[in-house]
Amino acid sequence: MITAFGRSTKPEALPDWRQSLRDAVTDPRELLALLRLEHLAPRLPPADAGFALKVPRGFIRRMRRGDPNDPLLLQVLPQLAELDHVSGFSDDAVGDLDAVAARGVLHKYEGRALLIAAGSCAVNCRYCFRRHFPYAEELAAAHAWREAVGCVAADTSIREVILSGGDPLVLSTRKLTDLMDALRSLPHVIRLRIHSRLPVVLPERIDAELCAWLAALPLQRVVVLHANHPNELDASVEAACARLREAGATLLNQSVLLRGVNDDADVLAALSERLFAIGVLPYYLHQLDRVRGTAHFEVPDERARELMDVLRGRVPGFLVPRLVRELPGGSAKCPV
Ligand SMILES: *Cc1c(COP(=O)(O)O)cnc(C)c1O
Ligand code: SF4
Repeated sequence: MITAFGRSTKPEALPDWRQSLRDAVTDPRELLALLRLEHLAPRLPPADAGFALKVPRGFIRRMRRGDPNDPLLLQVLPQLAELDHVSGFSDDAVGDLDAVAARGVLHKYEGRALLIAAGSCAVNCRYCFRRHFPYAEELAAAHAWREAVGCVAADTSIREVILSGGDPLVLSTRKLTDLMDALRSLPHVIRLRIHSRLPVVLPERIDAELCAWLAALPLQRVVVLHANHPNELDASVEAACARLREAGATLLNQSVLLRGVNDDADVLAALSERLFAIGVLPYYLHQLDRVRGTAHFEVPDERARELMDVLRGRVPGFLVPRLVRELPGGSAKCPV
């Protein structure tokens, strides 16, 4: 930071990310009270209905008080509609269970191996396939990474290792270092990609220790963020993105198209513009995985294509994400 006298000072200390993670709100009633929405409590599903609420306080501060349709709130608040059984919506909608090549490794696409590095996230997104995936059994870390690393070592066609989950950045930097110490010596692996929602929902995770680790890796680094609405991208996220770029990472963003959250051309255009302003390029806009309990978020393909047409007319081509859907058994994400 440059002061009024032009001298450099230390950047402001970040809150301890582990503490922020522990402090996340898990009681829907507390969330509603913080937002002055206590009257919505009777509309909450029963507490034992499965996937729990979890949301960091920093993310809640970006929500509008008193607005039951706030686009950030809708992503995290349990709804009665999740209990509806809708045909076509199942527990393993993207066929991940068939693609497990070794403990914790998904090898579906050529040249890229995806490691399920962590079972949890800093936030529980209501639309997520993770609600039903048996992560506890499929974690790459479960066996000190040995099986996962062995799988990548044995297949020289793998050029890129993708850390996903769950959210890989909920792991300690120590654990990430252990994993990469095993992978960095493989000559065929040239690129590390990290898929994480933490730069958005818990930006203090992008601390000096993590950035030092990232900067020292002898690999190309890509971080794919996950933001769905421009209101998610406040100054704290902007600063986290700047730190990641300083550590040599190329920043991309993926979003999920969600009814009531971002199924609007103005919102999508504002999201792309805001992403670019903080140094991030839009990558994918995902059609929802048809996972049980998420049907109320679905946007029909025809409407999704209309939105993309409008968006293409509004922003430069490099700010138009690719609209895709994941299909079981496909050799890549499928354009819609
Ligand atoms: C989405 C995905 C990837 C990455 O796909 P890209 O099109 O390269 O972003 C890799 N492996 C698996 C299993 C995936 O689901
Ligand atoms: S995997 Fe991503 S979308 Fe799913 S709950 Fe975690 S952060 Fe949210």
